[in-house]
Amino acid sequence: MNLARSRDRMVEQHVVRRGIHDRNVARAMRTVPREAFVDPGFEEFAYEDTPLAIGHGQTISQPFIVALMIEKAGLDAGDKVLEVGTGSGYAAAVVSRIASEVYTIERHESLALQARERFGKLGYGNIDVRIGDGSKGWIEAAPFDAIIVSAGTPTIPSALKEQLDLGGRLLIPVGDDKQRLKRFTRIGADEFEEEDLGGVLFVPLIGDDAWSIVHPMYT
Ligand code: SAM
Repeated sequence: MNLARSRDRMVEQHVVRRGIHDRNVARAMRTVPREAFVDPGFEEFAYEDTPLAIGHGQTISQPFIVALMIEKAGLDAGDKVLEVGTGSGYAAAVVSRIASEVYTIERHESLALQARERFGKLGYGNIDVRIGDGSKGWIEAAPFDAIIVSAGTPTIPSALKEQLDLGGRLLIPVGDDKQRLKRFTRIGADEFEEEDLGGVLFVPLIGDDAWSIVHPMYT
């Protein structure tokens, strides 16, 4: 199986043709081997436009959604980006091929360690991984040009808004049973522009400033 060819085809069909116009996003997704971020035995499914299980009831997100969130984050080469919910590490890896510094937080130690190992093997040296509760952000590395939250929250964690630089963008799935993808752009010290980017479906963000009850499905 020629995975490089499958990767190109996936980016063309499910990213470019579905309306992702940021060339940096398509280029980064053509570069990052998604097969290196799925569990052993699932490599042949790496280029289907679908989420896949990665253990602990968690998933590597669907490629189109990864592309959409990164495009809407409006990244530039010099940007410093926080991703909350490292999971497999795939989205952080794609971001790292566009932005200059990436910080990513995962609450499951084993997933965080595995992602760190993957970044090392691929030589992605601009990604810092932390184990912990991303609903509190990463204060020591703030402010960020963009924050991408890869899990759904009931409300917006205040720390994430506070850790945005002026002009910075926060991409976050919000809502109870029906989630909406929201973009908050910091336009002043206490002023944020809010946009609704449509319906999405993410696993819950579990933390002090997010969901507190862990459903047995999500450990
Ligand atoms: N971006 C990931 C990727 O590319 O594979 C997919 C993320 S998965 C949909 C959501 C992740 O968020 C899960 O790995 C979950 O453990 C993590 N998570 C949930 N709540 C969290 C929190 N408060 N802080 C950090 N990570 C959290």
